Amino acid sequence: MKFVLILMVAVGVDWGQAVEAVAARRVLLVSCDGLRPDAIPMGTTPVMQRLMDSGSYQLTASAELPPVTLPNHTSMVTGRSVPHHGVFFNVGMTGRVSSQTIFDVAKAANLSVGFFANKGKLSFLCEEGSVDAWRIVGGVDELTTEVVNAVGAMDLRLMFVHFGEPDGAGHREGWMSEPYLTQIGRVDAALGRILDALEAKGVLDETLVIVTADHGGHDKTHFLNIPEDRRIPFILNGPGIAEGRVLCEQVRTMDAAATALDFLGLPTDVAADGKVVREAAVDFVQPECVEPIPTLDLSCGPVPILLLAPMMVGIILRGRRHRREAVEPKQSQAL
Ligand SMILES: [Zn+2]
Repeated sequence: MKFVLILMVAVGVDWGQAVEAVAARRVLLVSCDGLRPDAIPMGTTPVMQRLMDSGSYQLTASAELPPVTLPNHTSMVTGRSVPHHGVFFNVGMTGRVSSQTIFDVAKAANLSVGFFANKGKLSFLCEEGSVDAWRIVGGVDELTTEVVNAVGAMDLRLMFVHFGEPDGAGHREGWMSEPYLTQIGRVDAALGRILDALEAKGVLDETLVIVTADHGGHDKTHFLNIPEDRRIPFILNGPGIAEGRVLCEQVRTMDAAATALDFLGLPTDVAADGKVVREAAVDFVQPECVEPIPTLDLSCGPVPILLLAPMMVGIILRGRRHRREAVEPKQSQAL
């Protein structure tokens, strides 16, 4: 086995002939905010289940610390760890992230890019006007309609879609509650509509679909270094992806960026901390599978001390913002 692994590293393994044959490689990266992987089998998720059955997946992938929305989405689209990209806080910020993103790399290569999100704070990751389609719309179904329309009207090569559920239901009713599971079914149906649109356009066979999340949750919150908050799903489906393969090597949030760029044939150097999930390639010979263990870096107990201070500052800032908004309500639906 050691000999096989050394050979794989030395020679390298591409995505295979199925990918070489497609006319134009495309990537659809879908983030379901707060989706706990152990909820997928409990919810109404025929679309995700189909993607898993005919693709490769890991239901014990790991979010970065802290397991909250903006730091993890920044890792997802930059391929950098939280200390590396420096976005420790889960608060909306003006301007844009200083690190390069997958959107920047794709645009530099003249690929058309679509960015669709339910939460306004994600605009920090992709400025309006910097890509070909850019929508921030509250509501899963409304956002999905925007995505479907853009897929029909444009020739998008990189699509990022962020669903604000089931995170919203988790905060309101609790993670793994009935309303939480219901929202997972809603997100699954929305994902199905997007896949149908890609199929109707005749480009689904060219598209690597990645479905993942930014964090899980417990009770009505998420920020701890515990499996309930930290574990996320990571599902890959598309040309060159092995069918029904459970991935052995630990997958992390930032691997989404490296994998998306590599599949598109783009340089992955900006995704400095992420790795290409090559284990999902149909030609890859898997190593002996052991139970993946979430990477608990910087951990010294359930709440890493190094992250306590910035998290507390974030909570205080968010409290101040909420008080300000209570006095001057904003029109935005973004949460
Ligand atoms: Zn949340």
